[in-house]
Amino acid sequence: MKIGVPRELKNHEYRVAVTPAGVYTLTGHGHDVLIEHDAGTGSSISDKEYIAAGAKIFADADDVWAESDLILKVKEPIPAEYHRMRPGQVLFTYLHLAASRECAEALLERQVTAIAYETVETDAGALPLLAPMSEVAGRLAPQVGAYHLMASAGGRGLLPGGVPGTPPAQVVVIGAGVSGMNATGIAVGMGAEVTLLDVNLDRLRAADALYRGRVRTVASTAYQIEQAVLDADLVIGAVLIPGAQAPTLVPTDLVARMKSGAVLVDIAVDQGGCFADSRPTTHTEPTYRVHDTIFYCVANMPGAVPNTSTHALTSVTLPYVTRIADRGWHDALRADLTLMRGLSTHNGRLTSPSVAAAHGLDH
Ligand code: NAD
Repeated sequence: MKIGVPRELKNHEYRVAVTPAGVYTLTGHGHDVLIEHDAGTGSSISDKEYIAAGAKIFADADDVWAESDLILKVKEPIPAEYHRMRPGQVLFTYLHLAASRECAEALLERQVTAIAYETVETDAGALPLLAPMSEVAGRLAPQVGAYHLMASAGGRGLLPGGVPGTPPAQVVVIGAGVSGMNATGIAVGMGAEVTLLDVNLDRLRAADALYRGRVRTVASTAYQIEQAVLDADLVIGAVLIPGAQAPTLVPTDLVARMKSGAVLVDIAVDQGGCFADSRPTTHTEPTYRVHDTIFYCVANMPGAVPNTSTHALTSVTLPYVTRIADRGWHDALRADLTLMRGLSTHNGRLTSPSVAAAHGLDH
């Protein structure tokens, strides 16, 4: 099969959908990998590395799209790419079609077979192609939080771990899922005092077993959140209710009573945010002030570390890509319900009930 990897065109998107390791695997299975010139530069991967792994480099994105049976991307196609898609072509990428009727309509009109990373879902409800980005965002949260706690960045002028004879920072993590547990691990590593809240006590049991008293676990209620947040130097919002808006857990009057110069990082901002005052920001202007605190609400945190993010993403997508390429999309999906759940459009028809519901379209 011919597998094409164009350079991402979305603003500030530096990830790429395949690494040299992926090229090596796919060409080893007898496939051709066609990569647009400079596609990996934003992730510190050169054309030379791709060529050494067996890829063919194309100067023009049009040729990559025209010659490939399967297109691998990171983000959904943008309007400048729509005309390149052709009937029967398979597209495997993050799509988030519920948020873009325009893109959904383009895929239908161009009769693309589109499989969305974010809806590939196991029987147990896990999202294996989303998890690595939650890991990245979770590990990044204490790092950006620590940066903004510095006085030079407008924060309380506090070192997370303190030094001997001074108290460490109080870090509160709300949500003990994938991103929350990763945030906790880094905050503990920095030497902070960490309080972890979740409504799911099994999650807290797992954290308690892992950290053996090094992390305070608290059942999440409005009362407990208030107590923890009032004492916090850094609050990390990491909650998710699958398929729904994030619940508002930190109201603005609570923020008004927080310590001056405290930092709030809302990882859940892509689902509306779990602090009342959260609104999506970008890497160019990541923070804003609310009362006397700093809010960091970047909706695509992994974009700050594209090198790590590209490797994290492609290591989970590659097994699926290999199966689609080896067996053809139809047989690969029939053999694997997890992958089947990712199918969003085929032959001009919408196959995702949640996308159809979001736009009032038939499926
Ligand atoms: P997850 O499902 O692994 O964990 C969410 C946790 O929140 C669960 O343990 C759940 O029990 C808990 N929770 C739900 N309601 C709660 C409440 N009221 N109080 C305390 N805990 C509660 O989800 P995840 O993979 O960690 O993702 C979290 C959020 O981060 C999602 O919205 C995801 O889309 C987002 N995310 C954002 C970025 C970014 O760049 N900003 C990157 C990756 C993921």
